[in-house]
Amino acid sequence: MSEPTHVTRDGRRIVVAASVERAGRLLAARRTRPAALAGGWELPGGKVEPGEDPSAALVRELREELAVDAVVVGRVAGPLHGDWPLDDGHVLRVLRVHLAPDSEPAPGIAHDVVRWLSPDELGDVAWLEPDVVPARAAAGRLPTWVDFPSGAVAGEGRVLRVDRLDADRVGVVVDRTPFHPLDHGWPDQPGDAGTLDGARVHDCLTGTVDDDGQLLVGGAVDVRRGDPSRTWVVVHLLDAAEAPVPGALVALAVDGVARSALSRGHSACHLAALALNQTTARFWSKEPSRRDSRGFPFLDQIAIQVSRITPDGAYDAYRCGRSLRKAGFDAEAFLAERDDVARDAEQLLAGWLATGATSVVDTGGDPTLTSRRTWRCDVPGGPAVIPCGGTHVPDLGQLPRIRVEYLPTDEGFEQLTHVG
Ligand SMILES: [Zn+2]
Repeated sequence: MSEPTHVTRDGRRIVVAASVERAGRLLAARRTRPAALAGGWELPGGKVEPGEDPSAALVRELREELAVDAVVVGRVAGPLHGDWPLDDGHVLRVLRVHLAPDSEPAPGIAHDVVRWLSPDELGDVAWLEPDVVPARAAAGRLPTWVDFPSGAVAGEGRVLRVDRLDADRVGVVVDRTPFHPLDHGWPDQPGDAGTLDGARVHDCLTGTVDDDGQLLVGGAVDVRRGDPSRTWVVVHLLDAAEAPVPGALVALAVDGVARSALSRGHSACHLAALALNQTTARFWSKEPSRRDSRGFPFLDQIAIQVSRITPDGAYDAYRCGRSLRKAGFDAEAFLAERDDVARDAEQLLAGWLATGATSVVDTGGDPTLTSRRTWRCDVPGGPAVIPCGGTHVPDLGQLPRIRVEYLPTDEGFEQLTHVG
């Protein structure tokens, strides 16, 4: 006979509850019954039935109570073999849940109101007693809110954890930060430096937290960006001697001069990529697999190997192999005329810069680190739109001039972009 699924090994009945996360917020639901609980807020869920898998039970409960399609992506581990204490006969198992994109919770009979709480709104509702601590832990598993897409360089955050990384350094995670971290998968823009409550932040990296609470940082992150089984966090690197206390509210200040230089480099990099697409369009003999937002063959995206943003510049390496030739791009002809193409690109760029057009990063309303963000700038001839996780200038008036250079390499070519 298989083991019962609705009780723990020590015979306690399992109640499942959902930490429903969306765009950095946690779902709270207000109970209508029984009378003793009415008006109290909870993480929605219910009892696991005999023979039922706890995850399946939670998906069922969420469909019955809130009419949503849910996917279990992990758990919020508690102190009782991963569960949370309720009473002698029951434990609470809190599972991390994502909803289908168009699924909106609609309270039925058991609840009358739901709210999406940001980490600092957690105390705004009266949680039922057994849910107070698990809800706080669930909020601690929300991804870091980031303010750098708007250009912010200062802010406040609550310290969620401090991890010793080596003999000298600690990694500090806060609930909200203006710092831009290096991306672990596409490390184009360096992490910000600055200060945290006056202590030097030497670097800033991307990290993940798993269901066991383990923090992986930078190159040690072993999953793809946004993997829902992990919590995605910004990790600020400080001297161990200056580590803040978990729970403290700290002031965060990015080195604004360095950030501005990287933002100029990043915007110039994207503009140069679109200018490259346009000025090399005549070297394509077939319909390309992708076109950019302005309608030109997307050579930049099709052939890019490496991109590095530097202060007031960028380095991009492109591969021109057999597959690119087969796709219809004549790299030899382009490289033979590369100086003329560079001159055309610079002229095009100068025309764009002269408009002083605004440049924005659209987060789609998701303030978290791994939201799908898009950089947009309305230049003549069609908007410049590129998916981007970095920082940018607020308008093209910040860029006096952009120079580009194309250099042949064994693999293909590299593009050097300079601002000024
Ligand atoms: Zn970018």
